[in-house]
Amino acid sequence: MAIPNKILLFTGALLMLNSSNAQVIHTKKSYPQTDFRPPLELRPALAGAFGELRKNHFHSGLDYKTNQHEGYPVYAAADGFVSRLKVQIGGFGNAVYIDHPNGYTTVYAHLQRFNTRIAQTVKDCQYQIQSFETDFSPRYLEISVKKGDIIGWSGNTGSSGGPHLHFEIRDTQTEEIINPQLVGLALPDHIKPEIGGLYVYHLDGESFSDQTPKRYFPVVGNAGTYKLQEAPLIDVSEEVGFGIVAYDKNSASDTKHGVYSIDLLVDGQNIYSASWERFFFNHSRAINSYIDYPALQTSNKWIQKNFVEPGNLLTIYKNLVSNGLLHISDKQIHQVQYLIKDVAGNTSTLNFRIKYNPTAIITNKKKTDTLLFKYDQANTFNTDKVNVLLPKGVLYSNLNFAYSSSPKPIDGFSPIHHLHNKLTPLNDTIRLWIKPENTLPVNLKEKALLVDNRRMAQGGTYEDGYVKATVKIFGSFYVTVDTIAPTITPINITDGKSMKNSSKMVFKISDHLSGIKKFVGTLDGQWILMEFDPKTSTLWHSFDDRTSAGKHFFKLSVSDAKANEKVYKARFYR
Ligand SMILES: [Zn+2]
Repeated sequence: MAIPNKILLFTGALLMLNSSNAQVIHTKKSYPQTDFRPPLELRPALAGAFGELRKNHFHSGLDYKTNQHEGYPVYAAADGFVSRLKVQIGGFGNAVYIDHPNGYTTVYAHLQRFNTRIAQTVKDCQYQIQSFETDFSPRYLEISVKKGDIIGWSGNTGSSGGPHLHFEIRDTQTEEIINPQLVGLALPDHIKPEIGGLYVYHLDGESFSDQTPKRYFPVVGNAGTYKLQEAPLIDVSEEVGFGIVAYDKNSASDTKHGVYSIDLLVDGQNIYSASWERFFFNHSRAINSYIDYPALQTSNKWIQKNFVEPGNLLTIYKNLVSNGLLHISDKQIHQVQYLIKDVAGNTSTLNFRIKYNPTAIITNKKKTDTLLFKYDQANTFNTDKVNVLLPKGVLYSNLNFAYSSSPKPIDGFSPIHHLHNKLTPLNDTIRLWIKPENTLPVNLKEKALLVDNRRMAQGGTYEDGYVKATVKIFGSFYVTVDTIAPTITPINITDGKSMKNSSKMVFKISDHLSGIKKFVGTLDGQWILMEFDPKTSTLWHSFDDRTSAGKHFFKLSVSDAKANEKVYKARFYR
């Protein structure tokens, strides 16, 4: 076995989380163990753990279960001051950030509401900038909190799939997200990780792609000891990588979570080590390189690849030999071992043997008409009808880029341009310009946008003869137009109604294509706060002492991304 000399050593701390069973996990840094209290007073149970595999990101905190209800008090985990407040239509919804003197920041997200003091600050800001969405830092030290103060109540705001509290701990300086279970908030856990299957990828000098030949080996075992169901000896080709299906449960609930670390050893030597101690937000999308992305897209399988593509900048890797790829050319049998740990140090192993066999796999080298895109540079593809620019850093590996087109669809103003395929992930946006045909009327140019072949809006504006957009995926795109305004359905208000006994006015709003971009409510000509929850398409205004008794004139304007506007007007009494 050839061991290339690119070796990354880990200079780790050993963290003893549970002295009763004296199990250890590796961490790079050491963390305070007594500074923070849990943010809820419920028995801790997780709906999501740190580093868990999610679509397009690793989970960045702990999701505490809240008995499927909203409205539990949320407590400051330690003394500090509120450093950032956020109201977001998607994402974190209502969120509080607290900076602590020990150098950490805690984040509390999807809150139903803030405490009175914070709520007032947020509302003042919303009225000042005339926007429901806000993201601002209160003046330094303006809102200080003590450990255990109620900062708000748990909820389901933003992109939340059910009531829970999303809680994070970050390094204030670097903004790295840290596993809260390493910072004194560990949950009881005596259950070892489970291993669900092994994959062998035959790279043999090629970049990883949906074309990479791979084989699946079922795994059997329990109580931490796993082996292959069949094939006691796996034949490998010249260059192979491994992939694993693994998850963890803790003692608090039956929910499946991500594991803490994965180590891969060949003949006792560690060639791959990854752990979810801490990572950077702006690397999180590289989960699409960490996993077998084509397998997720085509068969909804979460396979964790234990070799690293060159354009993957994730900092979860603690030790890598030859990026986790194995180059074997001798006739010996080699021992391979997986060590998989949860954050409490419970360890599971999978052992198997491999042997080099040059006939192990016949690589299906499909030579199609493609263009080589290199991962470490910017790449472009241009015709007289389409213009594609991939900035440096969006590819994880070199790519044989394929392009084709097909005739324009019935609602289209351009052919459908097929950019490679959906099985190759991108780390960031790429520039896509499509030239509309001259059947696009001059007066509709400002209504033009790009859609994919399922007619999902991809944005874009008409400029210099092109509809110009940025997209985050490869796939099939064409030009169409959106000329239809959003709809507004009043729920509890009609023209001339008395609203004396209503605490709010409520509407449902929706848009059919480009999406709601702006909503503006005015009362007697003055801007008022309209709040929006896209999960229920609900838009509302909660009356406060800004609205005096008597007659009022209300106007609501809702616009989509192509400036199609719908207006609703009503007089009411208060
Ligand atoms: Zn979460």
